[in-house]
Amino acid sequence: MLKLHWLKIDTRSKPCPDAFCKAIRFATRKNMKLLLHTCCAPCLIYPAEKLKDEGFQVTGFFYNPNIYPVEEYEKRKAAVTGFSGAISCGVIYPDYEPTQFLEAIGDKKESPARCRMCWKLRLKKTAAFACANAFDYFSTTLLVSPYQDQNILKELGEEAARQEGINFYFEDFRPGFRQAHNDARAKGIYCQKYCGCVYSQREQCKKSAKV
Ligand code: SF4
Repeated sequence: MLKLHWLKIDTRSKPCPDAFCKAIRFATRKNMKLLLHTCCAPCLIYPAEKLKDEGFQVTGFFYNPNIYPVEEYEKRKAAVTGFSGAISCGVIYPDYEPTQFLEAIGDKKESPARCRMCWKLRLKKTAAFACANAFDYFSTTLLVSPYQDQNILKELGEEAARQEGINFYFEDFRPGFRQAHNDARAKGIYCQKYCGCVYSQREQCKKSAKV
């Protein structure tokens, strides 16, 4: 009988491949630091738990200069502060500088070109901060949302990783979206009604007016 105590695996019991792989991943990532770009509290719930479960030491990074107006930014920030305290996840809050978003999108005021620039800005800043502060990986809670484009996020995350010299962690977190948002509502965590920027706010207002 061979027992791999450090992995807590007993080879007698023929662990299923998934459990075995998970244990290996957990062991290799045990001391790895991951900076998680955090868009809002409801979207933090599932990725934070999943990444911790995978063995990462997770720190949030609330970098969202896209959010408009400042009152909305403060609401989302307060919700992240409250929720992250409850799950013992540290979060870094860079200064709120909405001009960075406006400069990044330039004349691309329509989606999807606008969204691409918005994601690129937030991922690039997260990658740069992660690299400068000795993180091993970075990722984003945007990957939990069915409203964001996974393929473009993956492409931009990998591009930022190459440019900054750090690892991008990609996982499709979307299976956890619905449950996490139901939990957020049940717990009274603030859930926003539009994506974030002034354009998405207007688009939402128009949709609501038509209903
Ligand atoms: S709709 Fe959302 S992703 Fe697109 S630009 Fe606005 S805030 Fe960014």
